Amino acid sequence: MTGITIALSKGRIFEETAPLLKAAGIIPLDDPETSRKLILETNRPEVRLIVVRASDVPTYVQYGAADMGIAGKDVLNEHGGNGLYQPLDLQIARCRMMVAVPEGFDYENAVRQGARLRVATKYLQTAREHFAKKGVHVDLIKLYGSMELAPLVGLADAIVDLVSSGGTLKANHLVAVEEIMQISSRLVVNQAALKLKREQIQPILDIFAETVANTS
Ligand code: ATP
Ligand code: MG
Repeated sequence: MTGITIALSKGRIFEETAPLLKAAGIIPLDDPETSRKLILETNRPEVRLIVVRASDVPTYVQYGAADMGIAGKDVLNEHGGNGLYQPLDLQIARCRMMVAVPEGFDYENAVRQGARLRVATKYLQTAREHFAKKGVHVDLIKLYGSMELAPLVGLADAIVDLVSSGGTLKANHLVAVEEIMQISSRLVVNQAALKLKREQIQPILDIFAETVANTS
């Protein structure tokens, strides 16, 4: 298989990646936001995009179904990064992974007292690592979205979630109490593809790197 397949998710990742693709001379022939197609041809016949769930991007790249992709550090940390080369932080889709609790809940005190906390999150791996490092005992509850709801209805004492403006937390009477890590999106490349298709992949990497350096 010659040609390059790039895995992307719709929404903010696509929006923030489009200028990078354009700089590399890659323009999709359909708009992923309105098209129902999952495989998008581009102006370059040898380059196509596939549109997948954000959390599925590393999996497509790991198995070589896509040669490269763009995924958040949150997603990559959960995936584990097996088989992925991560050459470039694209500095897009920036936010923070935070612990948040209901207003009035004394998190520091609960931690000091060695309380066992129930924590709801989509990010089990990241949460497990974080609380283990702090020596805090937690029962993790896996959710797939709207984590902010969990403490409001007694499902959890705290959540681990991505925060950018804090508006959603505030609207739900939650406060961020701890930063776990800064998040941005990375370029990921299949390790075998990088060797076998270096002539096609390297120029794209170089232009992305140059564009990121010029915009930050
Ligand atoms: P899905 O909507 O399919 O469940 P998702 O919610 O992870 O997946 P997005 O909300 O588009 O999909 O998020 C994609 C990526 O963008 C995340 O993996 C994360 O890296 C980043 N991201 C998520 N929320 C924010 C935010 N509020 N600000 C900036 N970047 C964010
Ligand atoms: Mg989302």
